Amino acid sequence: MASVLIHPSVDHGVKPGDDHFTGGMLSCKCRDKPVKVKVAAQTAHNHVCGCSKCWKPDGALFSMVAVVARDKVEVTENGDKLAVVDADAAIQRHACKVCGVHMYGRIEDTNHPFHGLDFVHTELSPQHGWSAPAFAAFVSSIIESGANPAAMDGVRGRLRELGLPPYDCLSPPLMDAIATHVAKTRGSLYAGA
Ligand SMILES: [Zn+2]
Ligand SMILES: [Zn+2]
Repeated sequence: MASVLIHPSVDHGVKPGDDHFTGGMLSCKCRDKPVKVKVAAQTAHNHVCGCSKCWKPDGALFSMVAVVARDKVEVTENGDKLAVVDADAAIQRHACKVCGVHMYGRIEDTNHPFHGLDFVHTELSPQHGWSAPAFAAFVSSIIESGANPAAMDGVRGRLRELGLPPYDCLSPPLMDAIATHVAKTRGSLYAGA
């Protein structure tokens, strides 16, 4: 099933992360004056994502996206080239206006379950050791971007072969985190018997 291409960072096998890794520099694809974003921590919850909103490299079925605390993310060069892709979206994706690469996604709604976390694509960094992707999210959504519905068994098979269990939403721990946030907000969180 290696002929099913998922994303260039995982197609030859998922590389393990380094527990002692402390961050690096993301760079957009512009040769002239690239936007640079410093990420001063290891990322978490790295995964491949099939949604139609995340930035994907050319030809890839999936994006690869991780989270990191927003106070660890800093635009260090050519930030004037950045613009928000969709100001109404929950995640405001700050993209390079010239090459289109999304440099970081930020949630400004303080009630959002993932407020405080920025979304980043660590493949934009020359450093090695970033947290490895561990699952595939929103797999069915690749059909919305033009993938053949009849090819989905092969896609899910390849994801399992790579050790990236496929989900059609987020992974169970992240879905549980969202539901826990909702329960806390509603006052219905389990308090023990
Ligand atoms: Zn650029
Ligand atoms: Zn996505």
